[in-house]
Amino acid sequence: MPAIGEMFSRKLYSEDIGDRLYEFASAIYPICRSITGNGVRETLRHVKKIVDIDIHEVPSGTTAFDWKVPREWNVRDAYIKDPTGRKVVDFKVHNLHLLNYSIPVSTKLPLSELKKHIYTMPDQPTLIPYRTSYYKDNWGFCMAHNELQKLADGMYEVFVDSDHNDNGSLSYGEYFHQGETDDEFLFSSHVCHPSLANDNCSGIGVNAFLASALSKVRTRYSYRFIFAPGTIGSITWLSRNQDRAQRIKHGLIVSCVGDPGGPTYKRSQKGTALIDRAVEHVYTSSESNPNIIDFSPYGYDERQYCSPAFDLSVGLILRSKFGEFPEYHTSADNLDFIKPEYLGRSFKALLDIIDIVENDFKTVSLAPNCEPNLGKRGLYGAIGGDKTAYDANLPVFWVLNQSDGTRSLLDIAVRAKIPFERIQAAAKMLSENDLLKVV
Ligand code: ZN
Repeated sequence: MPAIGEMFSRKLYSEDIGDRLYEFASAIYPICRSITGNGVRETLRHVKKIVDIDIHEVPSGTTAFDWKVPREWNVRDAYIKDPTGRKVVDFKVHNLHLLNYSIPVSTKLPLSELKKHIYTMPDQPTLIPYRTSYYKDNWGFCMAHNELQKLADGMYEVFVDSDHNDNGSLSYGEYFHQGETDDEFLFSSHVCHPSLANDNCSGIGVNAFLASALSKVRTRYSYRFIFAPGTIGSITWLSRNQDRAQRIKHGLIVSCVGDPGGPTYKRSQKGTALIDRAVEHVYTSSESNPNIIDFSPYGYDERQYCSPAFDLSVGLILRSKFGEFPEYHTSADNLDFIKPEYLGRSFKALLDIIDIVENDFKTVSLAPNCEPNLGKRGLYGAIGGDKTAYDANLPVFWVLNQSDGTRSLLDIAVRAKIPFERIQAAAKMLSENDLLKVV
């Protein structure tokens, strides 16, 4: 019989976590990541300093359902020189300047031809856009529209020192924490974006530190953390773990969790899974204006986990919604955009969600004939810290009233509009006094 356990949100949370997450995000921000290559490996080495992940290498050309692991891409240098020989675009200044996955090139061409390979955002003319060409051979550069306007006619020198290796591999990191059951709670972050801080240095950091924290405690569920390139990484993981995937009972994709907006939650395909209700309860209990949105098959790796063959209860947790904040996929998604405060709040929200999933038991009252006499047991107003007896006793009365064996503690918290941790504390006290049991 499972027991109402301990809550991790206090034990595993420390006031300095936001600063530590920010420091981690700052360390991996400059790395030029992609869906394969040394930037991913270097990022995973940073994660491994926080928590002891396994690093897997899947050879290029490996079939993953309808996809193939691509050739491994690495880049050493890339620039454009103007007719006077001055570097006007330099990958070493900002890695967003290079179209991610560019093929090598070394040539001279007139500005009019060069412009066919330049990507800008006229509506955000001071920012560098983030663009990729993973599955189509192409080369290109990204730059601020205002800078492009300044370029004079003439012959330009273009150089990209990159390679696509048929004998390379796709790298991903994985951490597994064994709980009392083999049922799993999955956390996943994409590790393929280059210098973009919110999307997704923030998510990589939050998941790494969460895995590290959970590694130190006993849990009911087993926990799996995946650090993989977006889309092809999760497709590759699922293709190699088809049986194991069925153990995933709850899951969250963690992305864009360091900015002041939102917070946002995109439900799993199922929409009413425990994870969906847990996140909604945590957000509505702790945030003034949460944005809870329904599933749609566009976004991050929840698309793969929620595909028909798997249909897992995996949602997407963010602060600002991807695609909707002006900094999204631009050079403005930098270390000024994310803040320790919001990284810390995202970390705390995940602990609160874990607490619900770990403790969401159905309960039955052992004294269902009217209200039990709490006074004679010394339990009336027994939970300290409240200003009034009403506040102290209300969660206890809700738990006693609703514990008919059909409702879970989260059901009760939602109905009572009382934070889960207070309902859980009341249930724990009642069960320790033989007034309640887990069904
Ligand atoms: Zn993105």
